Amino acid sequence: MRVLGLLATFLAVAFGTDTFEGHQVLRITAADEVQVEKLKELGALEDLQLDFWLAPVHPELPIDVRVPFPSLQRVKVFLESNDIQYSIMINNVQRLVDEEKSHMMLQRQVQEMSLATFNYAAYHNLDTIYSFMDLLVREKPLLVSKIEIGQTTEGRPINVLKFSTGGTNRPAIWIDTGIHSREWITQASGVWFAKKIFDDHGKDPSLTSIMNKFDIFLEIVTNPDGFAYTHTKNRMWRKTRSKRSGTSCVGVDPNRNWAAGFGGAGSSGNPCSDTYRGPYAQSEPEVQAIVDFVQLHGNIKAFISIHSYSQLLLYPYGYTQKQAADHLELDALAKKAITALASLHGTKYRYGSIIKAIYQASGGTVDWTYDQGIKYSYTFELRDAGRYGFLLPADQIVPTAEETWLALMVIMEHTRDHPY
Ligand SMILES: [Zn+2]
Repeated sequence: MRVLGLLATFLAVAFGTDTFEGHQVLRITAADEVQVEKLKELGALEDLQLDFWLAPVHPELPIDVRVPFPSLQRVKVFLESNDIQYSIMINNVQRLVDEEKSHMMLQRQVQEMSLATFNYAAYHNLDTIYSFMDLLVREKPLLVSKIEIGQTTEGRPINVLKFSTGGTNRPAIWIDTGIHSREWITQASGVWFAKKIFDDHGKDPSLTSIMNKFDIFLEIVTNPDGFAYTHTKNRMWRKTRSKRSGTSCVGVDPNRNWAAGFGGAGSSGNPCSDTYRGPYAQSEPEVQAIVDFVQLHGNIKAFISIHSYSQLLLYPYGYTQKQAADHLELDALAKKAITALASLHGTKYRYGSIIKAIYQASGGTVDWTYDQGIKYSYTFELRDAGRYGFLLPADQIVPTAEETWLALMVIMEHTRDHPY
């Protein structure tokens, strides 16, 4: 393992991949609003190059931040001199990145890819996931098809799997994973969900009855350019890869780019920020493609957008304090879904509206879908709760996908049983 780790480091250097050697992730606990404000000020110091994995919002919520090695001393002195509590969550980010890379290399497919030999307990790159999608279509073309809903900024196809047992313009359920590219557990779970639907249709009576009424659309890699970039250049890349004049900073936060309170609090107008909303709503082709698809389809009844991490199940709104009209129903269903999720491995989730459970965020996906009339609009934040963050070890992929599936089934069953 150590030799492979060295090999991974060597390859990283050879291919010009960004390194996180000596970077630490600190878990910070702010005692009060004053400390939260201090941390926001710290985050605004661009020369420190801080990468907030969980941004400072209010004192009840943990704050996780990746601190580059050259900034560590300054940040720790700042925290200690302001009496702000912290612990070291990840001692050396590059070590986890190396371990992840070594695991990927060990698991790499040697024989020709097949559904039987595909490794669902490993992280895969874009090409492998796209090939996997083609395999599903080839094996059961009457059940699964692939739709290209658009192209990315860099010209990659944006592919969605459609699971359908027939009919025209049936009501539908939408699931997407990976709109934030570094949240690798989500794309890996998306792969697992695809295989689960593929296998369980006709076997699991509940899923079969859902699919007798609904088509299921699954977008596994919702930000393909960003995802490719996390594999080739920067494992911690979150945004799209669009470029604009007047700045060398690249990309837009695709979960701040929707026409739902666009431009409001909880998004940034700074192109260098990780929550940059973009120059205008739906500026990103990855977002516009879904908008076009949803509006053209016109009959989507549940829309579930999957992120990591923090173990949360969230519903609208994020951009306003206003309660969603279906607040009570969404809340009760969320509670039922996380109870089912916890029943498998004991993983504990919190739930609530986005603005109450985490923070004000404007321009988010499920606020937009909800305002389009899609009542069952939810966002997941998958594992974990703050040990590995975005670098969740591959041995947690299958358990994470399995438990999440139970919650998805609860939401899909409810959608089936409550037509509107
Ligand atoms: Zn996310």
